[in-house]
Parts: sequence; C-alpha cells; structure tokens
Amino acid sequence: MSDLQKPPSTDCEHMLARVHEFLDHELDTASSDEIRAHLAACEPCLDQFDVEQAVRSLVNRCCGGDKAPSALRTKVLGQLAAAQATAHAQQA
Ligand SMILES: [Zn+2]
Repeated sequence: MSDLQKPPSTDCEHMLARVHEFLDHELDTASSDEIRAHLAACEPCLDQFDVEQAVRSLVNRCCGGDKAPSALRTKVLGQLAAAQATAHAQQA
C-alpha cells in the first residue's frame, strides 16, 4: 500500500484537524514534527495556522494564559468580523 500518491487535500484536512492539539502541545513529538513539516511545505495550511495562532495569542492575553474556550474563540472571531463590517460600512 502506497501513501505517496494520496491527494494533498486529504493531507491538509488531516493537518488542520490537529492544529488545535498542536497549539495546545497535546501531540507527541512525531505528530508535531509531521505538522511542522506540512506547514513548512503547504502555504494554505500555514495561512490557516497563522489565523489560529493569532486568535490563540489574543485569547491568551485576555485570559492570562488559559486555554481558549471555544465559545470565547467564536466570540473573538465574531467581533473581528463585526469590526471589519463596520469599517467597510463607514467607508461607503
Ligand atoms: Zn496543507
């Protein structure tokens, strides 16, 4: 059985599904290396990872280093989107 020809999108889904665990340092060394190697080679995943990391550091600043509850994360993302929408409306 060869894994060499599997489509990249399958790989990306697999990686992105684990990005949160990676950021929380919940993965073993081998899995972390796998994700790091993929991010180094895959620009769309690296973009996605940057967004996750930005949200994470924002939440960490607000909550003193606790893990981000998903409700808070959703709220932060929602406020970012609302702020962007307001900025666009004011420019018009
Ligand atoms: Zn990827």
